[in-house]
Amino acid sequence: MPSDSLTSLDGGVDGYGSAIRKRENTQGRDLSYPPLPEPLTVPVYDNHTHLEISDGEHPLSYREQLDRASSVGVRGVIQVGGDVETSRWSAACALIEPRMLAAVAIHPNEAPALDAAGTLDDALAVINELAGQPRVVAVGETGLDFFRTGEEGRAAQFRSFEAHIRIAKENNLALQIHDRNAHEAVIETLLKVGAPERTVFHCFSGDADMARLCADHGWYMSFAGNVTFKNASLLRDALFVAPRNLLLVETDAPFLTPLPYRGRPNAPYLLPNTLRGMAAHLETDVSLLSAQITANTELVYGRWDAEPVTAAHDDPGPDPTPRGGIA
Ligand SMILES: [Zn+2]
Repeated sequence: MPSDSLTSLDGGVDGYGSAIRKRENTQGRDLSYPPLPEPLTVPVYDNHTHLEISDGEHPLSYREQLDRASSVGVRGVIQVGGDVETSRWSAACALIEPRMLAAVAIHPNEAPALDAAGTLDDALAVINELAGQPRVVAVGETGLDFFRTGEEGRAAQFRSFEAHIRIAKENNLALQIHDRNAHEAVIETLLKVGAPERTVFHCFSGDADMARLCADHGWYMSFAGNVTFKNASLLRDALFVAPRNLLLVETDAPFLTPLPYRGRPNAPYLLPNTLRGMAAHLETDVSLLSAQITANTELVYGRWDAEPVTAAHDDPGPDPTPRGGIA
């Protein structure tokens, strides 16, 4: 969740199909969804997405999103929460949707306001409770963001990040880190508190030196659509030196749409564009890279069918159609 402001939607009250946040930044963007890419031969997983956020002229329900993803070889997603409400939504959807697992957390840019209101500890208690639920496989996104949060919010960010690291370890879950303009402080905190066994830098934004440091610690690096951007040569240098067994791939949808669709709504079905860009840069075969990344993904989060869903996917279930307030 890198950049935009979001508004709350009155969705998900009587079901978990509708998005409950809406991306505000629509000015000057082409709001149509890009076309489906050519399907992958070897399937992959999108290890960081936000299906709770609607975007585009014609928002899609999470099931429509996952149907499109399945049709191009994106077999499943980690659905990531950023506050109490979206974390609850993520955990609840994962419980009924076999192609979805959940990550739960208070986003670093949310922590300062909660701390100021005196409700951060209550929110962390909810995250800890959700972390124990079936099909919740990661704590995230958590971390530090010195880009959008100034000095005054940093103490709260540190406190929240350290608490999330402990929650991940206590529940034996993976940790998904949001690190924006805060590389050194994130690394120091991980080393001070002790990183969980499976630690993932979501939307990896470091350079080659940082990739080597992550590799030394066995930390996973998840690349998003911005690795395809023209000005991202430092990121591609990092990709080049990252060991293949620590690579993951994600969309961070609806943000960071890969080329050639930068600025349009992003979605898990566009993951093949990012993967193909990575394979081209690494001068490797797309299927080989897919197979490696899928193996890595299942090592970090387990298999998507490791814990059963509570209802079959084709049960009528909650109404998956986005409704009032979205247009
Ligand atoms: Zn995110």
